[in-house]
Amino acid sequence: MTAPDYSALDADLREVLGPRGVSRDMRQREKASVDGARMSPIIAELLPLGIADIVAFPTNAEEIARVVGIAVRHGAPITPRGKGTGNYGQAIPMPGGLVLDTSRARAVIEVGDGTVTAEAGAPMTAIEQAARATGQQLWMYPSTVHSTLGGFLAGGSGGTGTIAHGSNDMGFVVALDVVTPVSDGELVHLEGDAAQAFVHNYGTAGIIARPTVRLEPLQDWRGLYASFPDFAGSQSVLRELGRLRPAPRLVSADTVHITAQLPPDPAFPEGRSSLRMIADPAIVAAATAIIEGAGGRIEDVREGPQASLALSVLSYNHPIEWLQKSEPGVYFHVEVSGDALIDRIDEVHAVYPGGQLHIEAGHTVPIGMLAGIYESPDAVYQGIARLGELGVGVHNPHQWNVDFRLHETVALARTTDPHGLLNPGKLNPDYAGPTKGAIR
Ligand SMILES: Cc1cc2nc3c(=O)[nH]c(=O)nc-3n(C[C@H](O)[C@H](O)[C@H](O)COP(=O)(O)OP(=O)(O)OC[C@H]3O[C@@H](n4cnc5c(N)ncnc54)[C@H](O)[C@@H]3O)c2cc1C
Repeated sequence: MTAPDYSALDADLREVLGPRGVSRDMRQREKASVDGARMSPIIAELLPLGIADIVAFPTNAEEIARVVGIAVRHGAPITPRGKGTGNYGQAIPMPGGLVLDTSRARAVIEVGDGTVTAEAGAPMTAIEQAARATGQQLWMYPSTVHSTLGGFLAGGSGGTGTIAHGSNDMGFVVALDVVTPVSDGELVHLEGDAAQAFVHNYGTAGIIARPTVRLEPLQDWRGLYASFPDFAGSQSVLRELGRLRPAPRLVSADTVHITAQLPPDPAFPEGRSSLRMIADPAIVAAATAIIEGAGGRIEDVREGPQASLALSVLSYNHPIEWLQKSEPGVYFHVEVSGDALIDRIDEVHAVYPGGQLHIEAGHTVPIGMLAGIYESPDAVYQGIARLGELGVGVHNPHQWNVDFRLHETVALARTTDPHGLLNPGKLNPDYAGPTKGAIR
C-alpha cells in the first residue's frame, strides 16, 4: 500500500474542521504522541514508539465521523486520543498517521433521568458537575478525573464507584454512537451488547464518538481520613468497610512508605498507614466504629462536593505516581487483585524487592497496585508468574496489546476495520499474556 499523501489529507480535513482544527506542526504532533507510558520503565526504554504525521481536533461526534471517513479515503492510520492519560502506551500512534484528538469535542449534551449523553471528549469532571446540577452523579469515574469519557470507556476500567458498580463493562454504558472505517463517515448508534463490544479495546474496532452512560441519585459524600500504626491495621478493616451499605464510593489504603510520599496533609500523620474512604453519611458512624475497633484513628471527615474528588485523585495509580515522583527511576508497578492481597500480604510484598502495595476495596475482591524496585523486564515477568501462584490476579501495565476480550475484538475488527487502520499495533491476536511483553 502506498503511503498516504498527508498534504492532501490536511487539505481535506481543513475543509471540514477549519485551519485551527488540523495541525502538522511538530510540537502538536509530539504532544499528540505521548501518554502516561513513562510510568513503565519497560515501555519508557522503547519510547518514542511512534509519532503522528497529522493531528485533527474535531469538536463534536459528527465531525469525528467525518474525520474518520476522510482519513479512510486517504488510507491513513487513525489513533484516537482523549486526554492521553492511559499508562501503557495505548494512545501512541505506532505507525504514525492521524491522531484523532477528541479533547475539543467536550460538550455534555443531555442529562436525563438516570443517564447522560456527552461528546467523547467531555471530561469526567464536567459530566459529574452536569449530573450534580440535576441531583445525580456518575456511576463511576477514574482517578484521572479530567480524562475524557471516550478515553475512559476505551482505555480504562473503573475507579471511584467500582465497589457498587464493578468495572465500566458491567452495565455502565447504555448506548454508543461509534464510527468505523466501514461506516463511510457516518455515526452508528449501538445499544446493549453491540455497544459493549467497543468498550476497553483502545479504539481498535471503532471510535466512540458520543456515549450515553448511567447516573444514579446524588449522595452527600464525606471524605473520611483514617490512619493506623501500620499497613496491617489498614488492611484488617478494608474488606469490612467495603461491604458497608450504602456502598462507599471508594476505600483505599497505603503502606506507611507510600503514605509518606503523598502530598502533605495533616490527615497523613508521619509514620502511619493512611486509609481513606468516600462514604455516605449513613455509614460514617459504622465505619468509625470498625476503624477505631481495629486500633485505627479518624484523622478528619470532610464535606462538600470536593470531598469525593480530593480522595479520588489519591486512588488507583496515583499513589504509585507519587512514589515514582519522590524516588525517580526506582519503582515500577503491576496492577493486582484478589483476597491474597490481604491474606498473603507478606508473600505478596516479598515478590519484588522493596514491595509496596496500594490497595482498594473492589466490587468483589480487593484490587491494588503493587510497586517494586525495578531490575529488569524478566524480573517483572517472573514476579507476575509468582503472583499468579499466590492467587493474585495481575494485569501487566508494561505492554500495549488489547488484553480484554482480545479474540472477540479481533473478530469484530475484521468486519469493522478490515484494513487495520484503527490504532495499529494494539490488536495482535498472538499476544501471549501478562507474563510476556507485547508483540510489536
Ligand atoms: C496516575 C493514573 C491514574 C489512573 N487512574 C485510573 C483509574 O482510576 N481508573 C481507570 O480505569 N484508569 C485509570 N488510569 C488510566 C487512564 O487515565 C484512564 O483510563 C482514563 O480514563 C483514560 O482517559 P483519556 O481521556 O486520558 O484516554 P487516552 O489515554 O487518551 O486513551 C486511552 C485509550 O483509549 C483510546 N481512545 C481514546 N479516546 C477514544 C475514543 N473516543 N474512542 C475509541 N478509543 C479511544 C486511545 O487510543 C487509547 O488506546 C490512570 C492512569 C494514570 C496514569
